Amino acid sequence: MTLDLYKYVASIPDYPEKGIIYRDILPLMANGEAYKQATDELVDYAKNKNVDMVVGPEARGFIVGCPIARELGVGFAPARKKGKLPRKAISASYTLEYGSATLQMEYDSIKPGQRVLVVDDLLATGGTISATIKMVEEMGGIVVGCAFLIELKALHGRERVKDYDVKALMEF
Ligand code: AMP
Repeated sequence: MTLDLYKYVASIPDYPEKGIIYRDILPLMANGEAYKQATDELVDYAKNKNVDMVVGPEARGFIVGCPIARELGVGFAPARKKGKLPRKAISASYTLEYGSATLQMEYDSIKPGQRVLVVDDLLATGGTISATIKMVEEMGGIVVGCAFLIELKALHGRERVKDYDVKALMEF
């Protein structure tokens, strides 16, 4: 049976700021069947792309990206919030729908020529994914796709990643 994944997204108005509708994927993750279906659908999207590595930004990019990497039988490299990586790191800064931030990856976490799937829970303005892509490309990786559970259409994040193949399971 195919589940309606929209039923597993909680929408919280005015969080973390007035005017923002926060789309919470924790109910989806808390349901084994919904979590499996969602990650399986993204695996289906990725499986003919000859992916070598999956990359996801902290923290929900890990939750969505790791099961995909495991199912594809490839590695996972995290893009972490600034100051968390013990080894030499590269950085990229970006602005969010709310606030701004810097992400970092270990400088050698992607090898030149590796085919990379970039994954996050949600595409809003596209700032997070663009910063992640920038670091992957700085290391010589080839971004073969960007996969999300959710896309917020009104924020036009897709335009920022128009040069890439983008997949989102749900739209708001
Ligand atoms: P952006 O960089 O603007 O595309 O924002 C995407 C990142 O911010 C993702 O990692 C999301 O987890 C988080 N995010 C942004 N807007 C929302 C929202 N309305 N609800 C839940 N998460 C959000």
